Amino acid sequence: MSVSRRDFLATSATTAAALAVSASRGDALPSPVSRLAPGGAASRPVVLASSNGIRGVKVAYDQIVAGTDTLDAIIAGVNIQELDPNDQSVGLGGLPNEEGVVQLDASVMHGPTRRAGAVACIEDIATPSLVAKAVMDYTDHIMLAGQDARRFAVNMGFKTQNLLTEKSRQDWLRWKSRLNRGDAWLDHDDDIRIKFTTGTINMNAVNAAGDLSSCTTTSGMAWKVPGRVGDSPIIGAGQYCDNTVGAAGSTGRGEANIKVCGAFLAVEFMRNGATPEQALIKVMERVIAMTEKRLLDDNGRPYFDLNFYALTKDGRYAGASAYEGSDFAVCDEKGARIEKCVYLYKKEQRPTASPRET
Ligand code: ASP
Repeated sequence: MSVSRRDFLATSATTAAALAVSASRGDALPSPVSRLAPGGAASRPVVLASSNGIRGVKVAYDQIVAGTDTLDAIIAGVNIQELDPNDQSVGLGGLPNEEGVVQLDASVMHGPTRRAGAVACIEDIATPSLVAKAVMDYTDHIMLAGQDARRFAVNMGFKTQNLLTEKSRQDWLRWKSRLNRGDAWLDHDDDIRIKFTTGTINMNAVNAAGDLSSCTTTSGMAWKVPGRVGDSPIIGAGQYCDNTVGAAGSTGRGEANIKVCGAFLAVEFMRNGATPEQALIKVMERVIAMTEKRLLDDNGRPYFDLNFYALTKDGRYAGASAYEGSDFAVCDEKGARIEKCVYLYKKEQRPTASPRET
């Protein structure tokens, strides 16, 4: 059987390294055709998440090992954070928009069936990840938004509830009272500083058969303009999964991620031979290259936080952030644990203040 030069190159480790170098130089990406034979990669179950998923990765892993579908398992994992009133980055207790209303985004992708679902700016439903899956399971569409997403959820049997907890309402009031010295809201005399905040949970999984899924769910940026939709519900930005290659997702400043379709880009880099670490570092470099000046310091380093997570079909994984010090959660046969993200800049290189901080 003859082997074409392209096929030969595609399987060579040297080429993988060369691709990594060429991509980091900004050369055109190689052909987008998958280089991994479907079903060809031996796998091991692995669940990967942002660090707030440390409880969820264990739940999802145990379910996957017991035979549960990877998407159902990771949704069970993220539900823990969505329903936890103390996680102010997602679901119940999420920090609200500038008018004090909690608006949630979520998306899911199921590798084996190549399906996806999402909801954007949905109110009053604590588990938008499950609504995103219902969009995938019961409609011919991929994303529903706003009041119509809420109505869809209610029709599907989801319960509505007030998602604004007392703690999040107090934080919002403090933020609001300090917004503008000249307005009619008096500043509190306590010294609690309420910062501009972000937070989200992304979770990705692969099972022993090499089947993958991904999910991201969030209350988005705290104090956002009502109606703002972040990266989390955008397939290819907040999360992405291709059953022949791997899965990836993101947490942090969605506006920076949307412009590079970071989760999709990470999977494409891995398709073309990059390791998860290489892929995520290249995505981070692309983010910075696409960032407007007002969000970069004089050295061209970002003021914002953004993390990426990537998992291959054969169970390799990584997390990445711009600055040293971020973590991610992972669970495999060695159990659930927190590991360190790879990064571009040392802690000391981080600018001290962001223009958005109050
Ligand atoms: N990525 C989310 C968003 O921009 C927020 C976050 O992860 O902190 O909506």
